[in-house]
Amino acid sequence: MSKNYIKYPIAFHKQSEKLIGISDVTDENKTELICLECKENFVAVRKHQTPHFKHKPNSKCKGNVETYIHWITKEVFKEIKEIELPEIFIHNLTENQREKFNNQVNLLIKHNVPENLQIKFRKNLKKNISESGIFQIEKIETEKEYKTTIGNVRIDIVITINNQEVFIEPFFSNQIDDFKRRKLILLERPTLAIDLLTFIDRFDYQYNLENLKDYLISKKGKNWISNRERKIEKYRLEYINYVSEEIKRQHNDFKLNNLKLKKITELESEINVLEKKIRPTKDKIWKLKHEISEIKNELGIRDYEF
Ligand SMILES: [Zn+2]
Repeated sequence: MSKNYIKYPIAFHKQSEKLIGISDVTDENKTELICLECKENFVAVRKHQTPHFKHKPNSKCKGNVETYIHWITKEVFKEIKEIELPEIFIHNLTENQREKFNNQVNLLIKHNVPENLQIKFRKNLKKNISESGIFQIEKIETEKEYKTTIGNVRIDIVITINNQEVFIEPFFSNQIDDFKRRKLILLERPTLAIDLLTFIDRFDYQYNLENLKDYLISKKGKNWISNRERKIEKYRLEYINYVSEEIKRQHNDFKLNNLKLKKITELESEINVLEKKIRPTKDKIWKLKHEISEIKNELGIRDYEF
């Protein structure tokens, strides 16, 4: 398919500065609809099995499905008022944070959970250190530049929640590279990555504005890339507290487990005593059987039993 004929599901209405889906195109607004990337007028193809916008045949647009959904995403954010932020999972922590985190949890488990139950106990612990929640967006900025000691960085979407900036980076096939990630960590802002590939995979490029809006508002496809150290510290303490509570809660199970382990040891030692007692008898039987075998051998009687 030629690039000029990529089917776009959403256009930008110049006058209202709002996004318009192909199903909302009317004879009145159809001449005012442009491609967000090249700002050229779109052609609305309405009488089609899958209605869509396309560029005119002589278009110079360098856009593609990937770059276009990026543009749309930024515009959608200008229109949404709230967002669900996902929980922070242990695997979202940086390597250093995770190491510190795991060390503390391990120590607590090592000293308080019976050895034979440790793996199961750990497996049953929750994997998130914070809860998800819906937050009001107070301010939205796009393409904002920040200075760091290792260079400038441009953030696609910056939203303000409770007077604090949260960075949002939509990505398609490529996750955020390590250099950018280091800059983000230096900036000490909570940073969220949004997976647009999963979204577009589900709808192909025939998504509509509502699909995308729902996806961008919900916690689906969102992952924390970095979080403020102070916040992580707070969640770490809360999680340690939670593990301690779990240990307390399972105290009786641990006690019962240890009693059963003790019982096994007792029974085993009882068997040991008995084994010792019967050893001379067993030795004697073995000796007698051996004697029989020797005599049979002398007599040429084959003995397969022994
Ligand atoms: Zn274009």
